Amino acid sequence: MERTLVLIKPDAVQRGLIGEIILRLERRGLKLIAAKFLQVNQELAETHYAVHKGKPFYEGLVRYITSSPVMAMVWEGPNAIAAVRQTMGATRPTEAAPGTIRHDFALEVGRNLTHASDSPETAAQEIALWFKPEELYPWDRATDAWIMGQN
Ligand code: UDP
Repeated sequence: MERTLVLIKPDAVQRGLIGEIILRLERRGLKLIAAKFLQVNQELAETHYAVHKGKPFYEGLVRYITSSPVMAMVWEGPNAIAAVRQTMGATRPTEAAPGTIRHDFALEVGRNLTHASDSPETAAQEIALWFKPEELYPWDRATDAWIMGQN
């Protein structure tokens, strides 16, 4: 079982895609265990994107993520990290596979709608950065056995 941090970034919020993105993750069988809607401040943006500091797109990326509220969530499921990134599609929307969120709703790498953790290590770091432990609510879902094969 894995957990992953998902951000619905400012462009997706502004474009009314919160529901569409949640729908796709929920329909896939992933389980939402934490969510908050917030305005990202400079410090959180810089910590979250620290790995990109110094790259040509870094300043613009920090401006983008702080430009308007985001929806931050933790999703859980077997192989959740790979599954969510697959549902999002490649970083560059023009390289994202048809049927993925970035293919279906985006054109530019700098406005690619979502963020999702890319490894178990970054998932753990990012979940701890965005959520306090008591803000995570694992729960039993009646359909878990049908989705996760635990029967
Ligand atoms: N990004 C950008 N220009 C680039 C590469 C990345 O604006 O040339 C932005 C884009 O929003 C991307 C984020 O930086 O989602 C983080 O980049 P990463 O390579 O980690 O992609 P992701 O994991 O989000 O697919």
